[in-house]
Amino acid sequence: MIVIMKPNATSAQMANVVARIEQLGCQVHVSEGQERTIVGIIGNGRPLDNKQIERMDGVERTVPILRPFKLASRDFHPQDTVVTVNGVSIGGQQLTMMAGPCAVESRDQLMETARAVKKAGAKVLRGGAFKPRTSPYSFQGLGEEGLRLLAEAREQTGLLVVTEVMEPQMVPLVATYADILQVGARNMQNYALLHTVGEAQRPVLLKRGMMSTIEEMLMAAEYILSHGNDRLLLCERGIRTFETYTRNTLDINAVPLLKQLSHLPVIVDPSHGTGKWELVEPVSRASVAAGADGLIIEVHPHPEEALSDGVQSLKPARFAALVQSLRPVAEAVGRTL
Ligand code: PEP
Ligand code: MN
Repeated sequence: MIVIMKPNATSAQMANVVARIEQLGCQVHVSEGQERTIVGIIGNGRPLDNKQIERMDGVERTVPILRPFKLASRDFHPQDTVVTVNGVSIGGQQLTMMAGPCAVESRDQLMETARAVKKAGAKVLRGGAFKPRTSPYSFQGLGEEGLRLLAEAREQTGLLVVTEVMEPQMVPLVATYADILQVGARNMQNYALLHTVGEAQRPVLLKRGMMSTIEEMLMAAEYILSHGNDRLLLCERGIRTFETYTRNTLDINAVPLLKQLSHLPVIVDPSHGTGKWELVEPVSRASVAAGADGLIIEVHPHPEEALSDGVQSLKPARFAALVQSLRPVAEAVGRTL
């Protein structure tokens, strides 16, 4: 349940409420809003007597929260969360563009892409060094060499770096190079990995599993939050449906729904969501119109030669045009780019 404090509740009254809840063996999560403070209670399975808490000084009322996710829910944290990563704010009024190749392939490929997406307005460079590939015979990524190239691209451009980490043991290594750790769709329910990134001192981009419900995604988010990492970004990247013309079906519903259910920033990946570069631009516009806080887009200087996901990658000039085409949409929904 949540405890809604009176607007004029004192800090001593707050402290009493927190102490009482902890005494009952529950965890407390305090969210200070502009008007009033909300105290979220994560129970221990035993029934809690709300009347007892409602009788305490400074308490206005209690509201039961029936959803299984708590820390991720907007009930617990009514204001939007803004995740700040080395000076870049994600989830505020300004949209965040993340772009780069599916996989880091070479220094030339990465630097050319990084410079181009930076010039076009991206704040974050994406690129996989460890790639989860369907076939063991496909390019698996450059590994640590790829991470070093990403760090070099950050040095040269000032872009932040987001890159995937696939297993818990690799989190310390990837975290030494990355500004944001990406948990991929195939790993959304890898609970050992969620636990480890939850303890890492790095923001996380959690991608929706291709067969996951929104609730399963928010429960995965809950794992990360409950291990102490509150710098979390959710990413809708499409789900598998019966449609075969597209690689996935981007669930546009997920954008406003996640914003309703959760306070976390929502990033959309129209590249994996469609699997077709021709669809990336219109679906990006739809995502911004639906309330996305940012986009993550695959860009490659020579998509026809890409070692992974060339068919869904934009050339740099198209990415720049896409950013321009988003401006009026952003403005129409009260956002800036
Ligand atoms: C990727 O970002 O290149 C990727 C593998 O994404 P996903 O996990 O969404 O398939
Ligand atoms: Mn990809």
